[in-house]
Parts: sequence; structure tokens; C-alpha cells
Amino acid sequence: MIAGMTDGATLLCGKSVAENVYAECTAAIADLNQKRGRPPGLAFVLVGENPASQVYVGRKQKVSERLGISGQIIRLAADVSEAKLLECIDGLNQDAQIDGILVQQPLPAQIDATRIVRAVDPAKDVDGFHPANLGALAAGLATGFRACTPLGIMRLLDSAAIPLRGRQATVVGRSLIVGRPISYMLINAGATVTVCNSATDLQLLNQACRAADILVVAAGRPALIGADMVKPSAAVVDVGINRDSAGKLCGDVDFEAVRSRVAHITPVPGGVGPMTVAMLMANTVAAAGRAAKS
Ligand code: NDP
Repeated sequence: MIAGMTDGATLLCGKSVAENVYAECTAAIADLNQKRGRPPGLAFVLVGENPASQVYVGRKQKVSERLGISGQIIRLAADVSEAKLLECIDGLNQDAQIDGILVQQPLPAQIDATRIVRAVDPAKDVDGFHPANLGALAAGLATGFRACTPLGIMRLLDSAAIPLRGRQATVVGRSLIVGRPISYMLINAGATVTVCNSATDLQLLNQACRAADILVVAAGRPALIGADMVKPSAAVVDVGINRDSAGKLCGDVDFEAVRSRVAHITPVPGGVGPMTVAMLMANTVAAAGRAAKS
């Protein structure tokens, strides 16, 4: 459940909610092992030497190992051709031992990331980025995989029993991996949703943020949201991962200024980040479960 109180707001602690997700995964994996005689298989495709990507993939693989998911990292050179990468994905799509495929982004300039996302079999798309999966979410269907970060946000909000139906939600950012899918999930949950982007008039952005019962910020702009931009009863979810001028990790919300003014807030780090990893594991276990049934 929730980790604790901060000065004013209750902290939505991803680290502890992620442990609940892992406990569920462990039970499901034991069940799958018994039924299929093998654990779920997850392939990470890592192109080039981007340090942040290496850290992210390393972290995800470590968690998959801990849970008993068979994680395999496929490393390709930074100058790999798009054709070669597509060939690699095709091989993983055909591989019956692989239940989930994650192609770590960003990809080098010679590769069309959209084409790569579309090449992954939607049934193995545990990142939830394929248009078939995003489309199913937009259509309000329960089928398909949902993007891990938004799914993790929904789980965090649920863990604190934050009501969504009939509430005003504002999402800052409209990316395909965070802003759009979380907007659809909130719409599907019965919230009234406003989605802002970099062209949103500043006054309108302020107004939309101040009106929000649930404020999700995924812009990648440090301190974009200040204390004068939040409603006192709000739940504030800070997705951003940035470095401040001193090199310290920070989100998009001015945490110190906002924490005393709202009801719930996620810290950075330790809020949304751990949930993203947890939901990747949950999606992989779900993919293996569906494959076992088919
Ligand atoms: P993108 O850069 O793809 O999207 C950012 C979005 O924010 C865009 O839609 C952009 O608008 C909008 N935006 C930028 N500036 C403003 C502004 N001043 N006012 C309103 N909207 C603005 O980023 P992602 O969605 O991939 O990631 C967002 C942040 O979340 C990053 O810091 C990223 O590192 C972090 N992240 C964290 C994760 C986690 O697990 N914690 C997972 C994924 C991302 P426009 O479309 O007009 O350009």
C-alpha cells in the first residue's frame, strides 16, 4: 500500500506498490512453470551503447532474473541496419521460447523507430507500443497490452483508492508512450480529461493544472509545475526524469514546493519509475499466460 506521509501530501510510493505486483508475478510464474515446464521468456533488444539505455535494460533484466523470468539481452552495434534489426525482431516473433519483446528506445538515426514498433508481434508487445495495442486501448477494449508507465500510474492511483470516475484529470504531454495512453486509460475510467502539449497556451496550462483532481505530468521539463499550479486536494503524478542544474535527479514538478499543497504526490525517484519496470514484468507474465492458452 502507500508508504507514508510527507509534509502535507501522502506519498504514492512506487517502490512498495511494485513489490505487490512482483508478488502477483511470482505466483503466476510458479503456475506457468508447472503448466508449461518453463518460465516466461523476455527478450531485450539493445542497439548501440547509449548509457541510459544500458542502465534501463540492466535494471529490467535484474528484476526479471529475480522473478524467475528468463531474460535475454540481444546487443546490436550502433550502426546496425534497419533490415538487420527487423530480421532480429522477426526471429524473436517466431521464437516459441520468447513471450515478450522489448526494443529499447531511443534507436539510432538510421532506424525508423515507428517501423520497428510495428514489426513486433502485438501478442509479444509487452511495452504496449504497437498501434494495434494502443488502438485497442483507445477503443476501450480489454484486449491487448498497455504501455507500462501509464499502466503503472493507474495501479499507483488504485493503490491509494483515488477516485477517477467523474473527476477532472489533466495530462501534461501527449507522447505515444506516456501522455496519450494515460489519457485513454483515464477516459476509460470515467474521468474528464484535458491533454496539454508544448503548444498549449501558458494560461490555459495553468488553468487546466489548477482544475485537476488528478494531475499527470510527463513533459520532461524540470520544475514545470509549481505550487501555484495545483489544486489542494489533487493527486499529482510526476513522470518526468530530469537532472537539475546540480546534476540531481528530478521530475517535472517542483516537489518541495508542491508537496505541502496537495493530497497525494509521487516522488522522483521512487514514484512512477519502479512501476514502469513492475508493469513490464506483469505484461510479460500475461503474455506467457496467453501463449500458454493458445
Ligand atoms: P516526449 O518528449 O516524447 O514527450 C513530452 C511531451 O510533453 C510532448 O507531448 C510535449 O509536447 C509535451 N511538453 C513539452 N514541454 C511542454 C510544456 N512546457 N508544456 C506542456 N507540454 C509540454 O517525452 P516522454 O513522454 O517520452 O517522457 C516524458 C518524461 O517522462 C521524460 O522526462 C522522460 O524521461 C520521462 N519518462 C519516465 C518514465 C518513468 O518510468 N518514470 C517512463 C517514460 C518517460 P509536444 O507533443 O507538443 O512536443
